Amino acid sequence: MEDETIKKIWADTLVILKEKIANPTYDLWIAPLVPHSFEDGRFCVLTAQSLAVPLIQRNNKEIMTALSEVTGREVNFSVQYDEEVHKNFEKERKKQSKDDEVKEFISALEKNIEKSKYDGLKQMQSPCNLNLKYKFENFIVGPGNKFAYAVSETVAKEPGKKYNPLFIYGGSGLGKTHLMQAIGHYIMFNKPKKKIKYVKSEEFMNDLIDSLRQVSPKTKSKSKTENMNNFRDKYRNVDVLLIDDIQFLEGKEQTQVELFNTFNTLHDAGKQIVLTSDREPDKLEKLDERLKTRFQQGILADVQIPDLETRMAILLKLCSDNNIRMPGDVVEFLAKIYNKNVRELEGVFNKVTAYSSINEIPVTLENVKQIINYKEERKNVTIEGIIDITAGYYNVSSEDIKGTSRFAKIANARQIALYLAKELTDESYPSVGSAFNRKHTTVMYAHDQVKKNIAGSLKLAKEIKELTDKINE
Ligand code: ADP
Ligand code: MG
Repeated sequence: MEDETIKKIWADTLVILKEKIANPTYDLWIAPLVPHSFEDGRFCVLTAQSLAVPLIQRNNKEIMTALSEVTGREVNFSVQYDEEVHKNFEKERKKQSKDDEVKEFISALEKNIEKSKYDGLKQMQSPCNLNLKYKFENFIVGPGNKFAYAVSETVAKEPGKKYNPLFIYGGSGLGKTHLMQAIGHYIMFNKPKKKIKYVKSEEFMNDLIDSLRQVSPKTKSKSKTENMNNFRDKYRNVDVLLIDDIQFLEGKEQTQVELFNTFNTLHDAGKQIVLTSDREPDKLEKLDERLKTRFQQGILADVQIPDLETRMAILLKLCSDNNIRMPGDVVEFLAKIYNKNVRELEGVFNKVTAYSSINEIPVTLENVKQIINYKEERKNVTIEGIIDITAGYYNVSSEDIKGTSRFAKIANARQIALYLAKELTDESYPSVGSAFNRKHTTVMYAHDQVKKNIAGSLKLAKEIKELTDKINE
């Protein structure tokens, strides 16, 4: 169906939905949806907000009814998160923001994109994939990261001069990637002629493997030597190389050799290298000694768990960036509980603000406690419990669910139990798989399948809701 027709259908549907769905749900999640396709009776829309998917799905019934009303036939509905839509949405949001600093930054970026004659910038835009959020200005400095911040700033101001390499290490979610990309952004804007390359070490390895293949899928008919030359050009022909999560290369010997050579070429030429790792070089056991020595030649900087005050400052910054008012006691309460890493703190901030806006409840300490309890309750849900309840609900046995029977009734119950186990616990795909005697790929498949089916079947959506309520009881 043509784009214009799809847009028109959706515009008409929105007119109906505006009456049916209360605010802020309508304004926040429904109105910004982007119509995508209408095939085989299924109308698909895209959302920029991954968190919003389940919240939008709660309105499936109203949306399907409205779509049917507009088109005069029965219509299924599905919603998907889309990275591209997300990027546009963020861009718009930032454009509208009153925050002059952000405005300035975006306009500087746009100007630079227009100019895009600089190779460095082109590299930053596409393959490097830097996240615009990761700037020095957005980083809250506290005792645990003061040193790492200071040396990162020095490196950004004088790449290749003072601290080379810079090796940032520390636990997950403590700002290593943020600092590393902040260096990239700083150089990108202040020394736009410099070529910058940001790469996760896993990508570096995959790229190398591709190049070593005689016929690479990417470069088809080229020879191995040509492929390797391309690879080397890509990583050695830069002024600043940022390699994230180096611990991934432990035990990957061939990649380590290539990294060693890349490192030496760049270092000898006075080019800046920045690395991050979850541990300091000495503790990377399966890393070549020569590499460890090189990494220790420059400067080592660790990031530690931020203290309470820093965590509160991070929350307050999130509030101001998102135009959200959060009372002081709530900020302190959340910062006290979520004391392991910043990623987790951001996660709970998103959860609290999404829940409170969707349910139209103010962010008070009492309400927030309820939202957090909800999460803690979820933690008590076990996979065994989910299997038992789902089996009972569909009139099969728990052994059936864990067994191999392909009898439709059992297979259906099993697939739903797999889905619920992933949704309602914090277990990973492999650990859900092992509880069900299945591979993690089977869990992934079942999860996807059920998710798709729910979007198209009110009956199934209702069953899932009933089961979820029983499990959470
Ligand atoms: P790491 O690479 O160490 O696992 P990230 O750099 O990805 O961690 O940080 C996780 C999240 O926390 C990111 O969204 C990042 O912006 C945020 N973050 C971490 N430290 C800080 C900080 N000091 N100030 C502001 N945001 C932070
Ligand atoms: Mg990281």
